[in-house]
Amino acid sequence: MDTSSISGRQAPLAMDAERFRALGHALVDQIAAYLDAIPRGPVTKDRTPAAVREALGLNGTLPAHGMDAATLLRSTASQLFEYSLFNAHPRFWGYITSSPAPIGILGDLLASSLNPNVGAWTLSPAASEIEAQAVRWIAELVAYPTDCGGLFVSGGNMANFVCFLAARAARAGWDVRRDGLVVSGRQLLVYASAETHTWIQKATDLAGLGTSAIRWIPTDDRLRMDATQLEQRIDADRKAGHVPFAVIGTAGSVSTGAVDPLAEIARICKERSIWFHVDGAYGAMAAAVSDAPDDLRALNLADSVAVDPHKWLYAPLEAGCALVRDAAALRAAFSYHPSYYHFDEKGINYVDYGPQNSRGFRALKVWLALKQVGADDYRAMIADDMALSRAMAAAVEREPDLELVTQALSIATFRFVPADLRSRMGETSAAEYLNRLNEALLDTIQRSGEAFVSNALVRGRYVLRACIVNFHTTREDVNAIPRITVRLGRDLDTQMRPGATV
Ligand SMILES: *Cc1c(COP(=O)(O)O)cnc(C)c1O
Repeated sequence: MDTSSISGRQAPLAMDAERFRALGHALVDQIAAYLDAIPRGPVTKDRTPAAVREALGLNGTLPAHGMDAATLLRSTASQLFEYSLFNAHPRFWGYITSSPAPIGILGDLLASSLNPNVGAWTLSPAASEIEAQAVRWIAELVAYPTDCGGLFVSGGNMANFVCFLAARAARAGWDVRRDGLVVSGRQLLVYASAETHTWIQKATDLAGLGTSAIRWIPTDDRLRMDATQLEQRIDADRKAGHVPFAVIGTAGSVSTGAVDPLAEIARICKERSIWFHVDGAYGAMAAAVSDAPDDLRALNLADSVAVDPHKWLYAPLEAGCALVRDAAALRAAFSYHPSYYHFDEKGINYVDYGPQNSRGFRALKVWLALKQVGADDYRAMIADDMALSRAMAAAVEREPDLELVTQALSIATFRFVPADLRSRMGETSAAEYLNRLNEALLDTIQRSGEAFVSNALVRGRYVLRACIVNFHTTREDVNAIPRITVRLGRDLDTQMRPGATV
């Protein structure tokens, strides 16, 4: 065997300090220029998948030989800055994706430089302690007990799933981790409002319960879970021999920002020893704000809460966080001790608290941002987003061709209604046309690059939806969206109904 290449080793991936410094400085300069230019360009450009592949040269096979790293980084960065959607744009309000905190961008660089495996304390002494503090600080920010268990995961779906599995292990009534779902004729049941995010389908499915384990509870006229129906349904299921083990309260629904009556749900759960989980992926951080609705603040009564720092803490993707009131219950849902691990218990071993094994240092970017900004200014940024959403709703209301449908937390929903259809919105044909028109309008707005909104279906109405989790957005930006919508809406309506009197 020829060992000459490994005796004085020069691995192709290795870089000396000088080279690393030069490449890093050049890249950071390029990133800074890009971030600075974003507001002056479109939110995104209308391109086909084939065009993107073509431009980035993504159709080739894996090259046998490598290339110069400086050229590679420079060209890749400029292509990414050209062929992407920029959620750091002040007019990006789609779904619930925030603008990335600049310190978080640098934090990810720092985290991967260190590359700690935050599965075990021994492998990540400082990182494990920073994660523990970040979890406590998030709990503190949303006024949840700071001695809770918790950990970082990839996002809201995983945070909810982790809490869901903790609930299942704690409240099934038998050893569900060992025996699975064995009890014949007795179904494990979870209760959630019709507005609940699809994580609940994935969770019941992945956990082997099946989606038929979800009892969908209707909502009231404000799209909040009807607690009376919840109570009746649980009691009827119990009487039938089933095992209601968890209720999901949503603290800020994904469509409209509706907050379920959390205090009332907490009471119903407590009386029956059912696990109360709050999905606060979007709205939990708003509980920190002084004018938060009381219902939202009642999330501190929950057995577990999912929060999503990559939403309203503006962390770059990915960062979700699961909080479980009883840390032992979280551990009891995930811990195993294989013979090949030698991790003592002097510090926290996150492998025992969640489904992941090797874990990255997601917490760093969040912790850095919390420390850079502090609790008061974080609350102020969140409050500003909410105030801007209310201002957007007001601007929508001032525009006769727009109908404001909902406004809550930092989400406004609205739609374009041509003048001649305003008095006919109740008619089936007009209602169907308005849905088609607004769906097409959504597409037109997104392609225009002038702003980016997403959609929702509110009581059968297809609406445009702007969610502000964006510290770049200003009043001028929110005032612009009604004008953009009306201009593009009128053009589209003329194309879709050429003969209509508008
Ligand atoms: C965004 C969201 C989720 C899913 O979170 P991801 O970070 O996208 O995985 C779940 N529930 C609610 C209420 C959300 O807003």
